[in-house]
Amino acid sequence: MQASTVVSLVVPFYNEGVGVDAFFKAIGATLASVDAVTFEIVCIDDGSKDDTLARLLTASRSDPRIKILELSRNFGKEAALTAGLDVATGDAVIPMDADLQDPPELIIRMIEKWRLGADVVLARRIDRNGDSVAKRGTANLFYKIHNHVSHVEIPANVGDFRLMNRASVEALKRLPERQRFMKGMFAWIGFHTDVVDYTRQPRSAGTSKFTGWKLWNFALEGFTSFSSAPLRIWTYIGAFSTLLTLIYLIFIVTRTLIYGVDVPGYASLLVTVLFFGSLQLLSVGILGEYIGRIYTESKQRPVYVVRQVYGNSDES
Ligand code: UDP
Ligand code: MG
Repeated sequence: MQASTVVSLVVPFYNEGVGVDAFFKAIGATLASVDAVTFEIVCIDDGSKDDTLARLLTASRSDPRIKILELSRNFGKEAALTAGLDVATGDAVIPMDADLQDPPELIIRMIEKWRLGADVVLARRIDRNGDSVAKRGTANLFYKIHNHVSHVEIPANVGDFRLMNRASVEALKRLPERQRFMKGMFAWIGFHTDVVDYTRQPRSAGTSKFTGWKLWNFALEGFTSFSSAPLRIWTYIGAFSTLLTLIYLIFIVTRTLIYGVDVPGYASLLVTVLFFGSLQLLSVGILGEYIGRIYTESKQRPVYVVRQVYGNSDES
C-alpha cells in the first residue's frame, strides 16, 4: 500500500469533556507507530451539554488531523456514527468510542488484517469484565434471541469498534433507514470479515450513557429492524388457538346435546375471555411497534443535523 493511504477514526462524543484529553493522548502514541498511513480523526459532538466541544476545539488547534462535526442537538450514538461515516474520507474507516473502552492498540492489528486483504475487521471482546454482570447477561440474551429469529446474524460480543474498507462504508451509506440499528446494518452488508480479539476495559472517565431503559429500546430496535418474526408469530399463535377452540367447541356442544344445559362454567368462560383479551392486546402492541417505525420512516427526516463543521473542512 502506498504512503498516501488514509485511515479515518470516527469518534462520537456525548458529554465526554472529562475524557477528551485522555483520549487524544492515548491514541496519539498508537497512531504515530503505524507507518505509511495518514490518519484523520473525525470527532462528532453529539449535542454535548458540557465542555466537550471546547476541549475538542482546543485539541484540534494543535492537531490538524482532527476534524469536528457539531450536531445541532443530541441525536444518539447511532446517528452520530452515521454523521461521522458520511464525512470520513479515509480508505478505511474505524468507528470507536471516546471513553477508551476500545483499546487504541487494536487499530494496529486491524490495519494489518486489512492490508492482508480483509474488507471488514471486527474487534471482538473476549472478556467483558469492564461491563456490569447485568449488562453482560442481557447482552448475551439479546444476541441469542436475535440471531434465532432474524435472518441477519449479528456476531456476539462485537460492538461498533471495527475497521471498514471504503467499499463497505459506501455500502453502509446506501442503507437509507431512519431508525438505525448499526450493529445489524454492519452485519447486513456482509463483505469478507476478519476478527481481532481484545479485553474490554472499564471506562476511562465519566459514566455510561446507556442505561437499562435505553438498552431495552435499543434491543427492540434490533428486533424490529432486522426481523418480522414478532409480527408473523401471531399467525401461528392464532392458528393454534383457533384449533384448540374448535376442539373445545365440538366437545362442549356435544356435551350440551347429550347432557342438556349445564349452568356452571363461569371459571372456564372467564379464563378464556381474559386470555384471548390479553393475547389480542399483546399482538396489537407488537403491530404498534412496527407501525410506529413505518411512521418515522415515512416522514423521511434526516438522521442528523449538523450545526457546524470545524477543522480541515476547507480543503474539500
Ligand atoms: N454517545 C453519543 N451519543 C449518545 C450516547 C453516547 O455519541 O447519545 C457516545 C459516547 O460519548 C461514547 C460512545 O457513544 O463515545 C459509547 O457510549 P457509552 O460509553 O456511554 O456506552 P457503553 O460503552 O456504556 O455501551
Ligand atoms: Mg463506553
